[in-house]
Amino acid sequence: MSSDYSLLLADDEKVIRDGIQRILSREKYQITLVENGAQAWELLQKKPFDLVLLDIMMPVLNGLDVLEKVQAGFPDQIVLIITGHATVELAVEAMKRGAYDIITKPFTPDQLRLVVRRALEKRALQIEAERLRQEQEKSLKDIATEKGRIQTIIHCMASGVLVTDRDKNIVLHNPASIHLLKLPSLNLLGNPLPESSELKLLSEAIGQVLTHGEGPSVISQEFSLGQDDPVYLRAHTAAVQGDSEEMLGSVTVLQDISYLKALDQMKSEFVAMVSHELRAPLSAVQQQISVILEGLAGEITPKQSELLNRSKERVNGLLELIRNLLDISKIEAGIQFQQKEPLQLLSFIQKTIELLTPQAETKKQTLLLEADSSLPWINADPQAMEEILTNLIHNAIKYTPEGGVIQVLLKPEADYLLLQVKDNGIGISPQDLPRIFDRFYRVKNEKTRQIVGTGLGLPIVKRLVEAHLGYVQVESHPDRGTCFKVLIPSIPTERDSHDSHPSQTE
Ligand code: ADP
Repeated sequence: MSSDYSLLLADDEKVIRDGIQRILSREKYQITLVENGAQAWELLQKKPFDLVLLDIMMPVLNGLDVLEKVQAGFPDQIVLIITGHATVELAVEAMKRGAYDIITKPFTPDQLRLVVRRALEKRALQIEAERLRQEQEKSLKDIATEKGRIQTIIHCMASGVLVTDRDKNIVLHNPASIHLLKLPSLNLLGNPLPESSELKLLSEAIGQVLTHGEGPSVISQEFSLGQDDPVYLRAHTAAVQGDSEEMLGSVTVLQDISYLKALDQMKSEFVAMVSHELRAPLSAVQQQISVILEGLAGEITPKQSELLNRSKERVNGLLELIRNLLDISKIEAGIQFQQKEPLQLLSFIQKTIELLTPQAETKKQTLLLEADSSLPWINADPQAMEEILTNLIHNAIKYTPEGGVIQVLLKPEADYLLLQVKDNGIGISPQDLPRIFDRFYRVKNEKTRQIVGTGLGLPIVKRLVEAHLGYVQVESHPDRGTCFKVLIPSIPTERDSHDSHPSQTE
């Protein structure tokens, strides 16, 4: 046993004091000896001892009285009572007052050592329990501090934060989220997001990320709230999983992007205005070049003809850019492509393929069309569909080397009509893939250097598809090819009459 234990022995008989000290000296305890209860009590008030041995019969203050005071002032103090008059009553009385044990005189050295050792074992347990209690208290304090710190940070964030458990019930939110989502702050905790058509998308995203194993684990989306003065929000919703990948809940971070939308709109309006102003003079230049080229303004030399042809090509490129810019501005302003009607896409595809076949033939490419025998009707704007098809097939031809194959596929897929344009061309690297739908984004590498374009074709496709409540997806592998999938919601038709003309739903 450790020699660090401190013992206090109070006995009025010197022989006993010395005897006990001798018996315990082997253990190397630090023993303090006093002659009576009063001295013992005085010392105990100054510092605690690991064990106190008290004789009962002592002058000034007897052992039982000291024991009573000790229990009242220091209830954890372990006390052994030494007595020469062991009666049952006395033993009961000592125990009642809180003694740990009693040892009766005369005792053998072994008896004393055993009782002291047991008492000190209890003291060791007491010390260990106290250490654990302090440790637990400290870690609880640390957790509380950490929790408080995180809560303060979340509370002060300008972005909205919304945390749910795995049953979609809100467990944490900050003032920004309440403000951005225009939520009532009462009764939010413990309940799912209030049901409203405006919050449906967000609610669905939370549901999707919580569906463990299925669907994406992060969903980013933009949506608006409010009619008259709408707030545009960008929401990133992510699943929160535990160490063993069990689903714990979801976190959504919300940002107000209204100012970005306003800026974007200003930029679009400016681009539209400039494009519009440029179109007329450029068309005039194009026409006049054609007039000169046709020799209507007098004869021209072959060299002049070559230079004029090059200029005409450049002007055509500029006019194409302007046309795209105006298209995208109109789509964004919601002016164009709103004349939807029930359509069978197949006939459009056939026409577009016919138109683009000569272009593919110049590159010795094969342009194939495969269509399911029974295709659903879609509610779509014919002009928009033509634009989507032309852009995708045109890109496939452009970005596929000579002799390549371009496959166009049309088939139903769940509640959608799938249009797929697949090529075995140069492909797109994983770094570029997420950006190809951004305005003006063009992949720049050795293989694309010679290919002309505006970087507006795919943004137009994406916006048009979205205006039809559809999706566009892309999969690509460098040097192996690219596959674009466009999904447009199909019109539900009466059973057994899927070839009949469906009633218009708009
Ligand atoms: P661009 O006018 O440059 O063709 P798009 O918006 O239509 O503009 O396309 C953006 C970029 O995506 C292109 O510059 C090209 O790098 C890449 N891209 C589009 N379609 C394909 C395809 N079928 N194969 C490989 N790359 C493609």
